[in-house]
Amino acid sequence: MEILRIMYHCSTLTNNRRIFRKNIAFESSMSLLESGDIEFSSLLTITMTNIAQTETQCPFTCRQQVISHLHDVLKKSIKGTKLYDSDTLNIEVTKTLGFLALKKENATTIMEKGSVQLLLSLIKRGELAERDSAAFALLQLTRHDYEDHQESHFLAAQKSLVKVLKKDEKVSATLRHTIEQVLRKTEYNVNSNDVSAGEKICEYQSRCTRFMEENLKIGVLRKSDYDLCYCLTCHKSRSDDLYYERGDPPERYGIPVGWCRFGLQLPMRAEYLNAPDEWHRAYHGTREDSVLPILKTGDLLQPGDVTPTGDQLGERPGHLEEDNQIGLDTKQVFVTPSVKYAAREEYASPSKFHDKEDASVHKAQVAFQVYIQPDTYERGPETVGLKTQLDPEFNNQELEWSTKRRGVILLAGVLVKLELLKKGKANKKGFGPKKSKS
Ligand SMILES: [Zn+2]
Repeated sequence: MEILRIMYHCSTLTNNRRIFRKNIAFESSMSLLESGDIEFSSLLTITMTNIAQTETQCPFTCRQQVISHLHDVLKKSIKGTKLYDSDTLNIEVTKTLGFLALKKENATTIMEKGSVQLLLSLIKRGELAERDSAAFALLQLTRHDYEDHQESHFLAAQKSLVKVLKKDEKVSATLRHTIEQVLRKTEYNVNSNDVSAGEKICEYQSRCTRFMEENLKIGVLRKSDYDLCYCLTCHKSRSDDLYYERGDPPERYGIPVGWCRFGLQLPMRAEYLNAPDEWHRAYHGTREDSVLPILKTGDLLQPGDVTPTGDQLGERPGHLEEDNQIGLDTKQVFVTPSVKYAAREEYASPSKFHDKEDASVHKAQVAFQVYIQPDTYERGPETVGLKTQLDPEFNNQELEWSTKRRGVILLAGVLVKLELLKKGKANKKGFGPKKSKS
């Protein structure tokens, strides 16, 4: 059991998972799943889920007792009594249920246990990442057809989900996206008309473009072939996932749902270094007025650097609380595979955008999408003092990638995110508070 606990803790970090996969820890663990001890099998199942989470199939049928146990663990944890020593327990268990649900036999048992109700209460009342992860597990359950009495769990859930979408102001873009997918799969019709977009430029993209032209002035450095809108409507219309793997060896990163990307002209050496194919994807949240100095330099700046205009960069206020600072070398460049982390206001500090087009006001944030060369950076914990897991895909212990090396990061795009603060007037072009019906 002790060895399993160690393996479990190791498996919560993405880098270790690959090592486990390579060393076929997965195959050898599978035979242990039949062990009589339910608690052992349950923790092993969670560990194996961590290791295998990039797989699209669940390779094993889980014993009913184990699923029951996981269900009870989640139930107790939601009620406030935790069985395992883990502050990310709800995320781990919901992720495991979601992974098991890829296989029909497991999904049927999960439905039979009534786990939909539990997932729903987490979606309604959980912490940010718990909500994402519970909704994702629910989505995995909707992949299969069930008996009528099991399907009824979905029907009962639909109302609550619609309410979350309509009434809850704290719903993140990821959560909204997942819930809408669940509703679509369970045949509840959510504004199915506005899943259109595709080729034509969306309203959000036009607004972000106006912001970019007016405030970022990145003009000739752009490569508009790589522009892409990740607003919910555009993202949905492409049926893309929320996380992908890129590079050699492959590494996971979050898709910037809710943002709009303006592609950048890559330097000559990008092709020579095979960066687009072999490097990892990451993000770097920054201030609006740092975008141009960074682009002029051609590299992300680190504290202490002097910009082309002669200004010296200091520490960002709010970043690095005093107690975090001990022993941490800040003379490095930091990026993150989690767009949620890059979007933290300590990094992507917001500014106000007054859109002249319709006199609306928006909160504006910017971030860089970068390529970073594998094996040139260290993974480290978050440094903004997070109390709970921020991104269901990444442990808080691995949110910051840092490097002292030069030339291992390429700027691939500028991301812009706008959130409405004050509605504007509707005008003849159809821009404005009301969605134009096409
Ligand atoms: Zn869009």
